[in-house]
This record gives sequence, C-alpha cells and structure tokens, in this order.
Amino acid sequence: MTESELLQVIEQAATEGWTKLDLSGKNLTALPPEIGKLTQLKKLILGKYEYDEDGSFVDIIGNKLTALPKEIGLLNQLEELLIIDNQLSSLPSKIGQLENLQSLHLSRNQLSSLPAEFGLSYQIPHLPGNYIAPQLLNIDQPEYNWEKSHNLILRYEYDFMPKGILTRFIVETHPWIEQQKLVWRSGVVLNKDETRAEIIENYNQQEIKVRLWGNRKRELLAVVTYELEKIHRSFERLQYQTMVPCNCEECAVSENPYAYPLENLRKRLNKGIYKIECENSYEKVDVRRLIDDVNLSPQPDYRQSQFQYTPLQRELESEREINLTVNIHNDNQAKLTSEIKNMNSDQSRKVVIGRDATNIGPGAFNLGEISGTVANTINQLPASPELDKPGIKELLEQLKAAIESEPNLSDDDKATALEQVQALAEAGQNPKEGAMQKVAKTAILVFKGIVAGLPTAAKLAETGKTLVPMIAKIFGL
Ligand SMILES: [Zn+2]
Repeated sequence: MTESELLQVIEQAATEGWTKLDLSGKNLTALPPEIGKLTQLKKLILGKYEYDEDGSFVDIIGNKLTALPKEIGLLNQLEELLIIDNQLSSLPSKIGQLENLQSLHLSRNQLSSLPAEFGLSYQIPHLPGNYIAPQLLNIDQPEYNWEKSHNLILRYEYDFMPKGILTRFIVETHPWIEQQKLVWRSGVVLNKDETRAEIIENYNQQEIKVRLWGNRKRELLAVVTYELEKIHRSFERLQYQTMVPCNCEECAVSENPYAYPLENLRKRLNKGIYKIECENSYEKVDVRRLIDDVNLSPQPDYRQSQFQYTPLQRELESEREINLTVNIHNDNQAKLTSEIKNMNSDQSRKVVIGRDATNIGPGAFNLGEISGTVANTINQLPASPELDKPGIKELLEQLKAAIESEPNLSDDDKATALEQVQALAEAGQNPKEGAMQKVAKTAILVFKGIVAGLPTAAKLAETGKTLVPMIAKIFGL
C-alpha cells in the first residue's frame, strides 16, 4: 500500500467513524501522524497472527514499521493494539497513557524496552513480547450472561490471600479467555468447547470462587484446579481450604450451597465414615460423591496427587506452546526479558509472575532426561507388523533421532520438539480417539512451528517433510 493510499484509508476511516482498522500485511514502513484523527478507533491491527476456523495457527502477517508516531496517543478509545511482526525498536511513551487499552501485542519486533508507563506489565509466559498489564485491565466486571442452573461450584478460602493469584491464572489460561474479552482485574471467564468457567477473586472475602457450566464442566474444572494448584504451590506455606459444595436436594439447586472443606471430607473417608450432614438441610450426603462431583481425588495424601493431568490440560499447554514457537525469532528477546526483569525489580510495586522469564519453554529441564522419557514412551508403542513399512513407533523413533542430531536447534527448541514427540507417542496408543487426534494435531502444529524457524537446508526440515505427513496419516489427520 502506498503512502497516499494509506492516507486515503485513514481519511475514510475518520469520516465514517470506523471502530476497527486492519492494516496488517500492507508492507507499510511508516504510519503517518494522521492516524491520530481516528479517535473512534477501538481496535488497530498493524500485524497479527492468523488463525483458521478451528483456531489453529496459520500465518503471521506483519508490516515493516520501525516506529510509531506519537499521535497514536490520541486514540483514546483504543482497546486493542496489535503490532505483531514489525521492526519496532521502541514504543512512544504515549501508548502507556491510553486509558482504554486492554491488550497490546508486540511479539516479533526488536524492542529492547517498554515505556516506563508499563512498569506493572507482565510478559506472558511462553509468549515473549506479549504483555498483560493488570493496570490496563478494567476494574469492573464486564456484563455477560450466566446460566445459573446445573453449575459446578468450587471455592478456595485463604487464611491470608497473596496478591496476584488471579493475574497469574489469567496469564496461564489466556488461550481460553472467552472471546479474549471476558477478563478484568479480578476475574475471568474461560470458554472451552462451549463449556464455561468463571473464576473470580474476592480479596475482601479472601476467597476465589469458581463456577462452571456446560457439558465438559468436570474436565474443565480439572484444568482450573490444576492451574490454581500450580500457582498455590509457588507460594511457600500458603494456607487455604478447598471448599466442596454440598449436593443435597436443597443445595443442588442453590446458588449458595453449603460447602465442606475438602480436607475434612478426606479425613472422614480415611476413618471409613461415608456420610456427612448438610448444615443447611440436615440431610445426610455421601462423602465420596461430594468429592467425585468436583473431580478431585479422594486420597488424602498430599497435593501433587490431588490434581489430575488430563488431555484437556495438555491441550491448554500446547496452545500456550504454539504461541512460543511462532515467536522464536525475536533476536533481542534475551535483552528484552532482562530489561523487563529490571523494571520489575521494585518489589513494592510489582509482582513477578509466571515462570522466570529467562526460562521460557519447558522450564528447568535436562535434555537427557526428556530424551529418556520420550524413548520410554515410544518403546511402549507396538512395532509395525510390516518390515518395510514403518509404523508409529518407527516413525517417532526416526523423528526423535532427527531432532536430537539437528545442530541448528537450540537446546530449548530441542526440548520443546521432543515434548511434541512425547505427546505424539502418548496419543499414538489410541490414534483413532478424538481427543488423541486433537493432541496429535496440536503437537504437529507446534513441531512445524519449530521447523519453520530452521534454515531450509537443515536436515530436520528435510526429514520432517517426509515423516510428519506419515505420522499425521496414522492419526487420520
Ligand atoms: Zn446441602
């Protein structure tokens, strides 16, 4: 798009009061100050990730902007600003003053710092260059409908509730935020396969309330409890109770059912006591069913085993990883993360959230260990019955070897690639099962993302081209 064409579009948008303007993929090298006229604008796209209908990553469409005009600070209504895949080395500080701005996407740029106005922003783990700034999130809960019957409810009560639990939860579960909109400073609504989960932090009551609705609510609750528990564990000596709602006739239809501390229920089971009396209805209810209703383990033994690692959990983690792999090329990443860490060093104002930013990806890992685990899982797969035709086991063995011997891959990327092989090997036990096909599809996408970052002559790129379609075929993809 030429400069005069761009000016024309801006003029038209200003006259007609557009609220959204998508300028991605227009080969732009500069944005004229006239952009400041678009005071109605709520969403401005200068570069984006493209997804297909089922939400799978397709492509990255950016521009060649090296700077933004300060007039961008005039866009008072702006809620979303996407500048993915450009060549920005800095941002005008005015951006930090846009009061309505709720999300800012900066990945794939050459930023070495963020304006000081972003002192309280958090980089999304696995998503370098993307930030959630809680001070930019709305304080008020947005309006939305909630079907109140047939809910699954769980509550956490804290003796002393540390700040930041919910922000971290939002960061970890962001791929499933409903329309990427139902999120505010103290709450979020997740939506996965038409099942909704509402998680609200109430600081005054020192509690987090979870309610779910939809067909897969038990499965989605398992993801919510898993993610919350992960955060709980990162606080030393955090004291809290998991409150399990009563399911007696009266409570089952109530929005405020009586609730039992999970630990008490487990103690009862341990002593062989299987009934408990509801304090609302005085009805006797079955302890095992109470625990089973919220999909938690009846085992009293400590936290690790309480929370289940489910296929849905893996899906969430893969979606976070996809974002990681498409972001691999920001050369200044190391510098950027260290600067953000410095900006966050003022502990009185800031909370460091998520994993250590230098540890993006599989976390603290040992490549040899991962390799051993993957080899083990592959070994459990059935060998191909035909000598000259490799099956899933043989294909994954080849893929694993190719990843490990690829000199162009960093250890981080190797670990991520091997994790995909691990997912494929696990899914390969039941390759025709819907949930497993989904896992495989995501793993393949992530793997392709990693390979896309390699020079075309790289051996893994070559091998991948042959192996990946054969593997996909086994899963019927
Ligand atoms: Zn009851």
